[in-house]
Amino acid sequence: MNNYSDAFAGGKRNILVADDEYINREMLENILSEEYDVLKAEDGEMAYEMIKQNRNTLSLILLDLMMPKMSGLDLLALLSEEPDLKSIPVIVLTSDQDSEVTSLKKGAYDFIPKPYPQPDVIKARISRSIELAEDRQIISATERDELTGLYTIEYFYRYVNQFDKYYPNADRDAICFDVNHFHVLNERFGMEKGDEILKRIAGRLEEVFSDTGSFICRKSADTFLVYCAHREDYSSIVDQISEIGEDLHTAVKIRAGVYSSCDKKLDIHLRFDRAKIAADKIRNKYSVSVSNFDEALIDAELFAEQLVDEFPKALAEKQFMVYFQPKFDIRGDKPVLSSAEALVRWSHPTLGMISPGKFVPLFEENGLIAKLDEYVWRRAAEKIADWKERLGISVPVSVNLSRAEMYDPELVDTMEQIVSDNGISTGDLYLEITESAYVSDSDSIVNRVKMLREHGFFIEMDDFGSGYSSLNMISELPLDALKLDMMFIRTAFEKQNDTRMISIVIDIADYLGVPVIAEGVETEEQYLALKKLGCAIIQGYYFSKPVPASDFDRFLLEKKGS
Ligand code: C2E
Ligand code: MG
Ligand code: MG
Repeated sequence: MNNYSDAFAGGKRNILVADDEYINREMLENILSEEYDVLKAEDGEMAYEMIKQNRNTLSLILLDLMMPKMSGLDLLALLSEEPDLKSIPVIVLTSDQDSEVTSLKKGAYDFIPKPYPQPDVIKARISRSIELAEDRQIISATERDELTGLYTIEYFYRYVNQFDKYYPNADRDAICFDVNHFHVLNERFGMEKGDEILKRIAGRLEEVFSDTGSFICRKSADTFLVYCAHREDYSSIVDQISEIGEDLHTAVKIRAGVYSSCDKKLDIHLRFDRAKIAADKIRNKYSVSVSNFDEALIDAELFAEQLVDEFPKALAEKQFMVYFQPKFDIRGDKPVLSSAEALVRWSHPTLGMISPGKFVPLFEENGLIAKLDEYVWRRAAEKIADWKERLGISVPVSVNLSRAEMYDPELVDTMEQIVSDNGISTGDLYLEITESAYVSDSDSIVNRVKMLREHGFFIEMDDFGSGYSSLNMISELPLDALKLDMMFIRTAFEKQNDTRMISIVIDIADYLGVPVIAEGVETEEQYLALKKLGCAIIQGYYFSKPVPASDFDRFLLEKKGS
């Protein structure tokens, strides 16, 4: 290809003069040789050979139309068939007005009439053509994304801005399309298939948004932006795009964040930031594929940013509090305290008490959770030791583990260290691992859980029934108790007291030989029903909300006294 930088290489640019008349060649060389290196050809075939030989360094061709062996027009036609020759600009030299039009139509950049005009005019036309051609090359190298052929982000923003200038009143949507867990597809199927998926998405987007005034770009790996005429609903479009995985035997799930009828006063970047915020909001929600931006999301975003910024200081200043919620064994005549769950809260100096539902998912996203959890685990272990020492009673405490921690090769060592630092045993610390963590990457996680169990830790599978582990798999998993997801209790008692699902889970637990723990038990009715169904352990507001460590003493003293 006539490469932009190669053309520069020798300092002077190269020009080929193709003309069968000696006098013309000499005259043009005279005019041009100060600024350019001039090559000369005396017939069409010779010109063609020289062009091919110098394809990487030729900046321009001056072409006479009337030449022996091959005419200028025939040569133009030949050049236009070869992509890397086609990009070299051609100026036609002619005395015939009709041929001027024909040659321009065949791809010539410009023409210079014979007899020749003033040397300055010739030079100006030549340098302008070279400039145009070089600009065009720079643009085509940066305008399009190599993999998908869509616009790159810079050009996308540029064209969208241009469009807005011409059509300031057009009702437009800014949309951000993302592939859910694209990195997992890449890891599982390899980069090549990953690329194939991205290309297909791009192709489908071009089909769907083919109307004029729609702009599409690939912003980064698996993020695509679209600027288009306003539409009411994007769910069928998302479905159409997701179909591209079908014959690849891969479920490709696309999500769309939509900033609808966007405010043109906002900078284009901000408009697409809003679409992205909307898309991120449904990152882990499998049942929803389209999310619309609303102003409240900005508040949520700013709030999240504040929490992340303040985390290090909050941890250092011990603003995180560990509360304890009792679990009662209800198998006997009277409920008996069996253990407690440690639950973190953030006692924020200006925002007040913040619940973990607000910051745990956020910290899981950016990795801060590891530091916070280790802090909670240590507080829990200290408390177990304190109760033993001060009250002479030993009650296990369960702590929550996040998915990311299951990948930490040092997890088992860290846990053992915490236990030994506090002079307690591994059996005193129970570990709650959410069901969805087991499912996501079973082998390595299952192995890590096995190791924890071998070291004596007691494993409770948290939120059971919400993570979709297959029944087939559950019998293989290392666990010591099933914690029923709170939704089971909610749905069972919401309407007509249909507890059949709960009995199925209790049957599964029986089959596995482990107890069921029911969370979120709020009423006596629920408690009695669960007891009748054979549920072993209960945790919920019916007995107590999570309380500060100092308030927990009373449960221990009660147990000790009984
Ligand atoms: P989880 O582990 O499933 O914890 C149970 C949640 O249910 C707690 O919410 C608890 O306060 C609440 N709960 C208990 N009984 C009842 C009840 O009768 N009714 C209702 N409506 N709710 C009840 P909390 O403390 O807000 O924690 C929410 C989630 O945050 C936890 O769910 C857990 O996934 C996470 N979490 C809490 N502390 C930690 C922590 O230290 N580390 C990690 N990684 N996650 C934590
Ligand atoms: Mg839990
Ligand atoms: Mg739970």
